Amino acid sequence: MRIDILTLFPEMCESVLSTSIIGRARENNLVEINCHNIRDYSKDKHKRVDDAPYGGGTGMIMQTQPIFDCFTSVSEQIGQKPHLIFMSPQGKTLTQSRVCELSKMNNIAILCGHYEGVDERIIEEIVDEEISIGDFVLTGGELPAMVLADSISRMLPGVLANDEAFQEESHFDYLLEYPQYTRPFEWHGKKVPEVLISGHHFNIEKWKRQCSLERTLKRRPDMLKKAQLSKQDKDFIEKISSQELETKQEK
Ligand code: SAM
Repeated sequence: MRIDILTLFPEMCESVLSTSIIGRARENNLVEINCHNIRDYSKDKHKRVDDAPYGGGTGMIMQTQPIFDCFTSVSEQIGQKPHLIFMSPQGKTLTQSRVCELSKMNNIAILCGHYEGVDERIIEEIVDEEISIGDFVLTGGELPAMVLADSISRMLPGVLANDEAFQEESHFDYLLEYPQYTRPFEWHGKKVPEVLISGHHFNIEKWKRQCSLERTLKRRPDMLKKAQLSKQDKDFIEKISSQELETKQEK
């Protein structure tokens, strides 16, 4: 898969995406990530890329020409137009299921806004999708683009040491992951749950599933509506829900 990031701060993206798991994945050609400096495409003699907004208002707006020419150059390099995502607080909030879908595409490009954002006409003309990473506003689209590139890259075959690893993690199946522990067995008087050192595979899996269900019920009950639950899961949820109700009534 190839990911192209269009940004005014390529060095910011490069430094993060050259590190740790994604950095190794790039070195091993499991994913190709290219960061392009939009400023390099400015036809202004001072390499300007932004201007004041029409109608007044604070901040600067990124102009159409450098973004359009940068995207055209990327499309020519690939030989086709990649699916272009604009990182924006006005977009659809990113979810794990959208990450999975995007990880199946061959080419995506990510446009990072900065300052007050980009000229609306560039969104109308070349952007396929707007994605937000949450209901808050950052100074630029670089951090959101890195979030997106990281979340997509880790889904690609070979990137994680164990390809099934992400299937157990939070959000993959609309459940939060169970709590995890490592050595030492006892720390600050707190012991690891005995079942985890029992060697009893069935009981360990049952414990993990039940912790996962309980955690999701308590922290993100909205997610349970989408999760695939067995009869056993549903019975367990009903049991802990009624236990919780009883405790509340006793108080
Ligand atoms: N004026 C814009 C608005 O009110 O919708 C906000 C612009 S923001 C200061 C600058 C850039 O940061 C945006 O163009 C976008 O690329 C990026 N950005 C900020 N918050 C974001 C979020 N929650 N998700 C994705 N991108 C975001």
